[in-house]
Amino acid sequence: MVLAQNLIKVKSQLPAHVQLIAVSKTKPAEAIHELYTAGQRAFGENYVQELTEKQTLLPKDIEWHFIGHLQTNKVKYIAPFVTWIHSVDSHKLLLEINKQSAKNNRIIHCLLQVHVAMEETKFGWDKEELLAFANATDFNTLAHVHICGVMGMASFTPNEGLVRSEFAEIKNCFDALKNGPMKNNPNFNQISMGMSGDWQWAVEEGSTMVRIGSAIFGTRK
Ligand SMILES: *Cc1c(COP(=O)(O)O)cnc(C)c1O
Repeated sequence: MVLAQNLIKVKSQLPAHVQLIAVSKTKPAEAIHELYTAGQRAFGENYVQELTEKQTLLPKDIEWHFIGHLQTNKVKYIAPFVTWIHSVDSHKLLLEINKQSAKNNRIIHCLLQVHVAMEETKFGWDKEELLAFANATDFNTLAHVHICGVMGMASFTPNEGLVRSEFAEIKNCFDALKNGPMKNNPNFNQISMGMSGDWQWAVEEGSTMVRIGSAIFGTRK
C-alpha cells in the first residue's frame, strides 16, 4: 500500500512526456509485484544475477531496464528478456549486446552513457569521446540494437547549481549527437537522467526518463 502511494505521488508530479523507471535494486520481488499491481511496468536493476532471479519470479510483461555497469561476459544472461540497457559505455559492450540480441532474435533499446559528474563514477564517455565514437560508428550495421539516446548521472551533492549544470551538459551532449551523427536515427529521442534526490531538476533540464528508487521503495541498506 505505502509503495503504491509513493508511486502515485511521484507520478502525479511528473510531466506526461517523462517515463518513470522504478529502480528496484536490493528490493524483494514482492515489493516489485506490489507496484506491478498498481500499474507500474518499467523497473530498473543494477546487478545481473539479481535481475535474472527476479525476472523468473515476476510477470513476463514487466519491462526491465538494466541501469548499472554491465560486464561484456554477462550480457548473455539478460539478453533474452531485457528491454532497455541504459549504461552502454563502450563499443565492445555495444557489439556484444547486438550479438546476444541477435541470438535471441530480439531488439534491445540502448542508451549511451555520458560521463559528466565530478565524482569518481568513472563509467561512460565524455562529450568529445562520445561524438568521436558516434561519428566513427555505423550503427546501421547493428541490426539488433536501437540507439535511443543518452543516460547520465549528476554528482551526489545538494549543490543545485552544480547538479543542474551537469544535467545541462548531458542534454547538450544529446543535442550534439541528435543534430550530428545521430541525425538520421529516428529512435534517438531519450535522455535518461534524474534519481530520487534530483529528478525535479533533471526534468527541468530536459530529462525524458527518470530512474527513481528510494523515493518509491524506501531507503536501501
Ligand atoms: C540506484 C540507482 C538509481 C536510483 O537511485 P535512488 O537515489 O534510490 O533513486 C538510479 N540510477 C542508477 C544508475 C542507480 O544506480
